[in-house]
Amino acid sequence: MGDVLNADLAHWLIQASYFLAAILFISGLKKMSHPTTARGGVIWAGLGMLVATLITYLEPGMNNYMLMTVAIFVGGVLAWWSGKRVAMTDMPQMIALYNGMGGGSAAAIAAVELLRVLTGAGLTHEAVAARELAVLGALIGTIAFSGSLIAFAKLQGWMRKVYRFKGQQVFNGLVFVALIYLGVMLATSDFSLAQFTAFFVLALLFGVLMTVPIGGADMPVVISLYNALTGLAVGVEGFVLQNPAMMIAGIVVGSAGTLLTQLMAKAMNRPLSNVLFAGFGTGDDGGSSSEVSGSMKAIDAADAAITMAYAEKVVIVPGYGMAVAQAQHKIWELTQLLRSKGVKVLFAIHPVAGRMPGHMNVLLAEAGVPYDLIEDLEDINSQFPNTDVALVIGANDVVNPAARKDTSSPIYGMPILDADKARNVFVVKRGQGTGFSGIENLLFFEDNTRMCYGDAQEVAQKLIQGVKSL
Ligand code: NDP
Repeated sequence: MGDVLNADLAHWLIQASYFLAAILFISGLKKMSHPTTARGGVIWAGLGMLVATLITYLEPGMNNYMLMTVAIFVGGVLAWWSGKRVAMTDMPQMIALYNGMGGGSAAAIAAVELLRVLTGAGLTHEAVAARELAVLGALIGTIAFSGSLIAFAKLQGWMRKVYRFKGQQVFNGLVFVALIYLGVMLATSDFSLAQFTAFFVLALLFGVLMTVPIGGADMPVVISLYNALTGLAVGVEGFVLQNPAMMIAGIVVGSAGTLLTQLMAKAMNRPLSNVLFAGFGTGDDGGSSSEVSGSMKAIDAADAAITMAYAEKVVIVPGYGMAVAQAQHKIWELTQLLRSKGVKVLFAIHPVAGRMPGHMNVLLAEAGVPYDLIEDLEDINSQFPNTDVALVIGANDVVNPAARKDTSSPIYGMPILDADKARNVFVVKRGQGTGFSGIENLLFFEDNTRMCYGDAQEVAQKLIQGVKSL
């Protein structure tokens, strides 16, 4: 009787905790949609994960408590340590790595379940279509695992080369067909250890094959796609284990990842198929760099500061270079100075400025820039023609008019910030370096553009001094 009561209580506690975890995940995600509440959202979602993880100790049939505790401790310490150390600019590869771990975990769960089938023990929960779902989760999770690791290596600069060969897509197609064949076998009939192993090896290989031909410039989109796939794999394995927390977390990650992938592809005006198969930025995409006429004209920070101080309206366009230089604090100081002189200052944020969606918003929020000074692409573009100065700081591709003017450009059609339409454009960058896409920027050669060379933080400091000295 006591045991039944205890079992009932444990069951109730587990279900209630999973419900609480689900609420925390979903409210956390909702909070992440606005910069003011995003930090809290991350904490809520993290708490949800903590609740869901700890409650597994009460799951019936658990016995590897020591192993679980060591795994949670090692994982927790490593995540805490790396999370504290990672620079904002290295965040995409960190996400790739964590995402790979998620996919790998889902695949590992599936592998354990399928091994149970192989040894005749049967699945942990004989739910409808559980075996088919285990195979599906294994397939998606394994591909996301190896693909994410390649994406990590590329973004970390460990793998610079783009591997492409003739007939690659046909070869990949054949590997995929073999994979599906083995998958169907694992899901529906008796299978051997060799077939089980071949399935996982081919899935790992497919993740690698799919990712190596994609250029570094497209890696963030690819990571977002793998993130969606990992979510799906976790959700599917949640059904296999009849674990509601995994189902909900997986579905939430899967749908959020899908939306983010779409958003990024849309912001670059490229369908996902083009991201995955076109070899963008690898020289294989058939695109050409725009023909440029004219020359780049330099300006001193002191002269740029004078023009800005006497302007009515200044729009600041931050990009990846501002993140690298960590210039956001100086830029906010400059903004406050200009505002104290009666200049109207706004920030224009492109959805894919920097190296991940929301990158610039996070940096500006960290520096204390109020949200009402920050405008999205749709809202700010009509304002450039009556802007006296567009200060482009470490941004490049997101202000390249080739996207509007040059049909042969690989970035043609990508929505850009129309900084070139401002009366004066000051571009802060260190030298002649191209942007992420590796193509020439027509803006730098325009008559109304002046190049203010130097590290973004140093130039921002000089601009501050220039304005102060007036
Ligand atoms: P870009 O990568 O196009 O350009 C950054 C510029 O910053 C470079 O031209 C570089 O020039 C300059 N720079 C680098 N370091 C410094 C420094 N310390 N001080 C001053 N300038 C510096 O950046 P954007 O933000 O304009 O564009 C983002 C790109 O990333 C787009 O192509 C986008 O499609 C891509 N992307 C973005 C994703 C996202 O989610 N945000 C996802 C996927 C891709 P120099 O070397 O001369 O200094």
